[in-house]
Amino acid sequence: MVECSPTAYVDWSYSTARLYHACPRRFYYTYAPSGEEEDTGRESRSSTTVQPPGARLGSVVHDCIAEKIDYWRKDAERTLQATQAVAAARLQQYVDENKDEIRDTYAANDEEFDPDEFAQSLIRTAQNHLETFFQVVCPQFDSHWYITHEETFSFGVGEHTVWVRPDFCTRSQDGDFVVTDWKTSSVERFSEPTLQALTYGLWAHREYEPDLDRILIQLVHTSRGEFDRARPDEADINRIKYQIRTDREDWISFQSIRDFQPEPEAGKCRSCEFLSHCDAGRSVIHEETD
Ligand code: SF4
Repeated sequence: MVECSPTAYVDWSYSTARLYHACPRRFYYTYAPSGEEEDTGRESRSSTTVQPPGARLGSVVHDCIAEKIDYWRKDAERTLQATQAVAAARLQQYVDENKDEIRDTYAANDEEFDPDEFAQSLIRTAQNHLETFFQVVCPQFDSHWYITHEETFSFGVGEHTVWVRPDFCTRSQDGDFVVTDWKTSSVERFSEPTLQALTYGLWAHREYEPDLDRILIQLVHTSRGEFDRARPDEADINRIKYQIRTDREDWISFQSIRDFQPEPEAGKCRSCEFLSHCDAGRSVIHEETD
């Protein structure tokens, strides 16, 4: 009898694929929550409940940008100062509500941990991102027509369902269908922006723009207001479709935890919420500290 894979239900998206390619074992732990453990007798898997400070900073900036676009599409005013005040209040609340866990989990080596200073540092960084967004990035969209932002869409590649959630889509004066993604972190060591850009390209081509030459994908780095731009071609579209099929075939056919091999590296394992369940991850960190 062919058993059903514990990850057969996972649809393809940039996020699920990125997780899988960074470490198949982490993907397994994330999506097969009641599956097997590699060791017996260990307590049930747990994950850190508090969002890491860098991730919270990114989501606050991201949400503030989405709110600004909401005002923009309604032709309403939203000042930088009002947006910065909202970001400050959200980050202060995050630190106030989680200061003990932040100190123990993310500032364990900082004996002088001061929650107020920590909050102020997050707030300053977020406000700098927002200032760059308002002053450098926003003006570049003045002549664009709004299409959608922060909406989730699905489409099919063969029998596989693919999900996308583009940050912002517009039509430029030149007629380009422009998909924009905000990047709030400096360098994402374990991400693959090209994969994300190609996924947006495939979606835009399927749903909005049959002419590939008129699709522009751009990643905007909100720390410095820099734009990375790409125009997908036919080979790119075929490459992303191939990856979607092959990833999904793995997720459907893999049966046990042993099929999802760990790919330990000290940097990523240290921040992995499943470290306490992963012998490979603990070994690599142990070796590094020896
Ligand atoms: S600890 Fe490392 S090897 Fe283990 S699941 Fe997490 S990322 Fe993968």
